[in-house]
Amino acid sequence: MADWSPNSWTTKPIKQDVVYEDTQGVKDALSKLQKLPPLVTTQEITNLKNSLRNVALGKAFVLQGGDCAELFDYCNQDMIEAKVKLLLQMSLVLIWGANKPVIRIARIAGQFAKPRSSPTETINGVEMPSFRGDNINGFAADVEARRPDPSRLVSAYFHSAATLNYMRASLSSGLADLHSPLDWGLGHVITPAIKEQYSQIVKAVKDALKFMKTVGIDKDRGVETADIYTSHEGLSLEYEQTLTRLLRHPPQARYESAGEVGNGYYATSGHFIWIGDRTRQLDGAHVEFFRGIANPIGIKVGPSMQPDELVQLLDVVNPAKEIGKVTLISRYGAKKIANFLPGHIAAVQASGHIPVWQCDPMHGNTQATPSGIKTRHFTDILEELRQALEIHRTAGSFLGGMHLELTGEAVTECVGGAAGLTEDGLGERYTTFCDPRLNEKQALELAFLVAGFYRQ
Ligand code: PEP
Ligand code: MN
Repeated sequence: MADWSPNSWTTKPIKQDVVYEDTQGVKDALSKLQKLPPLVTTQEITNLKNSLRNVALGKAFVLQGGDCAELFDYCNQDMIEAKVKLLLQMSLVLIWGANKPVIRIARIAGQFAKPRSSPTETINGVEMPSFRGDNINGFAADVEARRPDPSRLVSAYFHSAATLNYMRASLSSGLADLHSPLDWGLGHVITPAIKEQYSQIVKAVKDALKFMKTVGIDKDRGVETADIYTSHEGLSLEYEQTLTRLLRHPPQARYESAGEVGNGYYATSGHFIWIGDRTRQLDGAHVEFFRGIANPIGIKVGPSMQPDELVQLLDVVNPAKEIGKVTLISRYGAKKIANFLPGHIAAVQASGHIPVWQCDPMHGNTQATPSGIKTRHFTDILEELRQALEIHRTAGSFLGGMHLELTGEAVTECVGGAAGLTEDGLGERYTTFCDPRLNEKQALELAFLVAGFYRQ
């Protein structure tokens, strides 16, 4: 690609930049990272890209989910297994509901960096830098811990590697083996009618698996194991740059926009990276970096995006109009989606781009309780998804997937769901370091309900 290189972003204005005092430390960290091997391969990236092409064409569905802010501490067996199992269960329900293959992408193994509304905050009367994510600074409320520490960039690589290693090992050792019984844990569902409805879905999924076993279809790859891809916001461009390598395209790659024939630049920090709503300026550093990589990429699309700006962005990051190369992750809020999504879809349709359209029903629906706790209501999340599906249907477009903030743990961060979590109950296990996540029961319930939309 003409006039692009992994560091050409440094000539552009940048938002959410991190200013390090320890400039030698930054040099050392980046030169270390530069020598380390890719975390993911071009073959895996290409497989995902080809699958997302099917999503864009309405032939598959993509489920993306994980923490808002991953911490180094989350790199442990229990939390990784819980998340992988949850995504797997949700995907089974969605396969049953939408009657399409489901592509699974976790926000994991690199989802550390966070954009913040303000670079500083005041805690107990002391002004200090805001927490920017475990790869940048510490969460502890003291000025020293909050100082950006470049060695954390190297730690981010190794925690990503350890997480990814355990995901791969456990998947290939049968964690996703559907022959072993899954715990669907519906004990928490209070309302008998809803419990009955969910039990019916679980029974349908189990019957389908039994049938496959009986007729021997389960011998095919896909029942013993499953693919789960990794993703994160590509916010820290120093980090992304060092892991972006000129590599040979695998045979199945479509490389219309991916650099020279034969080779292309691949971001190897994860399979899929996205540009956040705060860093998607047309002339900015993030868009410059993203336009040069061969990976499938995401762009968050909020209410402030103008329809013509959206098309210009697509032209910049995907001039060859590769189908499914870009995932547009819409996040307006349940009250606003009807005002913005139809115009965005119409502009994209008129442009000839065929992206994946994914609904993030989390980020437009964040609100604070009277006592100041950040939360999201299950009904708003579901409502934005319901409207997204309907608006796409009406426009002759496809809602290709959903993008959720969730955890496999029993946290109390979002209000509502079948266990009837109220604002008063939020304090019980509110452990997020950034945005409120769906807990494992709420997330599975959302999959049941979205599957139901498709079955209507
Ligand atoms: C996020 O996905 O955690 C996030 C910060 O989203 P957005 O860029 O849409 O605000
Ligand atoms: Mn978030």
